[in-house]
Amino acid sequence: MCKALIIGAGGVGTVVTQKIAANPIFTDVMLASRTKSKCDAVAAAIGGNRVKTAEVDADNVPQLCELFRAFKPDIVVNVALPYQDLTIMDACLECGCNYLDTANYEPKDEAHFEYSWQWAYQDRFKAAGLTAILGCGFDPGVTAIFTAYAAKHHFDEIHYLDIVDCNAGNHGMAFATNFNPEINIREVTQKGRYYENGQWIVTEPHEIHRPLHYPEIGERESYVIYHEELESLVKNYPMIKRARFWMTFGKEYLTHLRVIQDIGMARIDPIIYNGVEIVPIQFLKAVLPDPKSLGANYHGQTSIGCRIRGIKDGKEHTYYIYNNCDHEKAYKETGTQAVSFTTGVPAALGASMWAKGLWRGAGVFNVEEFDPDPFLAELGEQGLPWHELFDVDIEV
Ligand code: NDP
Repeated sequence: MCKALIIGAGGVGTVVTQKIAANPIFTDVMLASRTKSKCDAVAAAIGGNRVKTAEVDADNVPQLCELFRAFKPDIVVNVALPYQDLTIMDACLECGCNYLDTANYEPKDEAHFEYSWQWAYQDRFKAAGLTAILGCGFDPGVTAIFTAYAAKHHFDEIHYLDIVDCNAGNHGMAFATNFNPEINIREVTQKGRYYENGQWIVTEPHEIHRPLHYPEIGERESYVIYHEELESLVKNYPMIKRARFWMTFGKEYLTHLRVIQDIGMARIDPIIYNGVEIVPIQFLKAVLPDPKSLGANYHGQTSIGCRIRGIKDGKEHTYYIYNNCDHEKAYKETGTQAVSFTTGVPAALGASMWAKGLWRGAGVFNVEEFDPDPFLAELGEQGLPWHELFDVDIEV
């Protein structure tokens, strides 16, 4: 018997709830979010009274605890926003619940994300005998599990790791983000950062770029940006000499992004407008398309994977492990586009790894610290098949 509580009824929460509800290991399922009507719509689409719903403000620990004490979840799957990570972890500790998320904590007033805030919960989760699983979406998430799989089966030492994330989909809009616009714009407008020989090298935003080839897609301009799994991977695989994260952006997207920044709409500090305090980026979110609404007209694929160079039995090898996900196929199954799908499927599967007792432990864990085999054995069946290429030209 395992009770799962999902928090956040956005694009990702919709997929997580569908996948968890379809998995009989979860005897009781609840979806809670700020706006209950969104939870009700997700639950109604699943049908059969399988999913209970509730309203909760996840910034508020007493409110979370009231809900946790009433529903008594074994595991809480946090797919609200990164701002809520710490309050939800606090409530889990107070009420004896296990925890899983897909994005590391970020303070509202600082566009900066790192694991230190959540790793600081290590002793408390350990002492409570509870598991906290951090970063179990696709990236972070599957990319780190791919790396763990490569380290377990194909390399004695990983030396160079390049995570490549291509969205070759077209939604027909002039500008839209694929997940929460506020979080997305904060992420992609930051300075670039990668790891080399024990140091973090900082670049201007989108300074390093080059065309890379993606399977079934072809060539796309790819940009080095900072991404959170780099921080845990270089800690957990200290043999890594260089780790980078590449993301593809179209010219139109980058032009829009530059204009948004230049005119001040990416600002995260409050301003007064007509006597009312507003945060420009939050106002922008309100007028941009809801990522959940993009699915109906989205065509094309995402392709996300790890390109690795390292040593096995004294010889250098290259290895490329990846998944391609089709926007239309994702929409047909779940009513959401591939970015929500590729995030929600791993989060639900990670929760089921915990429920089956395969990913357990007292403390705070990044996903690469668990056995990748049972997770990857099921990932394809859940809709995200993965592929391996050995000793190919990995371009990086
Ligand atoms: P959305 O904005 O679509 O959904 C977020 C949901 O959380 C909304 O339903 C929102 O409520 C709810 N929410 C926000 N604040 C609160 C609060 N204080 N209390 C309760 N509920 C709240 O985002 P996405 O679904 O696109 O993304 C969800 C998460 O997934 C984000 O953290 C994002 O960073 C992460 N992500 C991770 C990826 C990965 O691969 N690891 C990739 C993509 C996303 P309301 O509906 O009322 O606004």
